[in-house]
Amino acid sequence: MTDVEYNSVFLDMLRFLGRVVVVTGAGNGLGKEYALAFGARGASVVVNDLGGNTSGDSSQSSRPADEVVKLIQASGGKAVADYNSVENGKAVIQTAIDNFGRIDILVNNAGILRDKSFVNMTEQDWDLVHRIHLRAAYSLTHAAWPYMRKQQFGRVIFTTSTSGLYGNFGQANYSAAKMGLVGLSNTLSFEGAKYNITCNAIAPTAFSRLTQGLLPSGAEENLKPEFVMPLVLYLCHESCSDTGSLFEVAGGWIGKVRLQKSSGAMVRRANAPMTAEDVRDNWKDIISFAKPLYHLTQADQVSHIMNVVETISNND
Ligand code: NAD
Repeated sequence: MTDVEYNSVFLDMLRFLGRVVVVTGAGNGLGKEYALAFGARGASVVVNDLGGNTSGDSSQSSRPADEVVKLIQASGGKAVADYNSVENGKAVIQTAIDNFGRIDILVNNAGILRDKSFVNMTEQDWDLVHRIHLRAAYSLTHAAWPYMRKQQFGRVIFTTSTSGLYGNFGQANYSAAKMGLVGLSNTLSFEGAKYNITCNAIAPTAFSRLTQGLLPSGAEENLKPEFVMPLVLYLCHESCSDTGSLFEVAGGWIGKVRLQKSSGAMVRRANAPMTAEDVRDNWKDIISFAKPLYHLTQADQVSHIMNVVETISNND
C-alpha cells in the first residue's frame, strides 16, 4: 500500500482515541456490534451486560460481556466488563470512571421485551419494560451527565423503536417506554447544547435474539446489526455535532425522522362561541396533510400558535 493509499484509508477514519464509551447490553446483538467497533477504533469500552434472557426474568450470566471483552482485547483494544443491571446507572458509569477515569460516550442500548396484548398485560410486564428501557436510560445518563458537562464533551444515544413511532400490536409497554426515550433525548439535546453534549435517538431494525420470529424470514443477510453500527459511531464522533435528531436505520438505509402536522384550520370565529360543530365542519382541513408544517423547537410551535391567534383578532 502506498503512503497516499494508507493515509486515505487510515487518516480519514473516524477514530475514538482517548474516548471512554459505555455500551449497555453489549453482550449480544446491536450492542455487541457497537462495542467491537468502538474497541477497534481506539476507544476504551465498558461492555455492560447482565447476561439476561430476552424477557428480563431473573437469569444472569457474566459470559456475554466477558466474551465481547475478550474479542476486543484479542484485537489489541481496551475493554472491561460490567455486569450491573442498567437499572443501576450509577454503578455502570462508575465502572468507566474506576477503570478509565472518564466517560465520553454513552450508548443506551440494553433492552428486553414482554409482549402481550393489552388486556393480558400485567403491572410487572409494564413496569419491568419501563425500568429497563426508560428509567435505566434516565439513571445512566443522569450519572454520566456531570462528567460530560465538566469536560465539555458528551455523546449520548437513546435506542427507540419503530414500535413506539408507529405502534405495534402487543407492545403497549414497550412502545410507550420507547417513545419516552424520544422525549428524553429531545429535551436533553437542549440542556446539553452549551456543554457540547449531543443526544440523538435511533430506531433500528436488525436480526437479533430479541427479534427472532418478528422480522421477515430470509432477510437475515440484509438486516444485520453491522448495518446499524456505522450510524451510532458517526453520531458519537467528535466531528458530528447533530443533536436532538431521530433516525430510522436498517439494512444500510438511514433516514431522519421528524414530527409534522397539518396546516390545520382555525375553527374559532370572532365573537362566536367555539363549538363541536365548528370542528366537524372543518374536519377535512384539520386532517389534511396537503401543506404540512413542522417545528424544530417548542418555541417555534408557540410562536406559530400566537401568529394564528393573531390572525383571528385582526379579523374581528
Ligand atoms: P439483544 O437481546 O440481542 O441484546 C440486548 C442485550 O441487553 C442482551 O445481551 C441482554 O443481556 C442485555 N440486557 C437486557 N437487560 C439488561 C439489563 N437490565 N442490564 C444490562 N443488560 C441488559 O437485543 P437487540 O436486538 O440487540 O436490542 C438492542 C436494543 O435495540 C434494545 O433496546 C431494543 O429494544 C432495541 N431495538 C432493537 C430492534 C431490532 O430490530 N433488533 C428494533 C428496535 C429496537
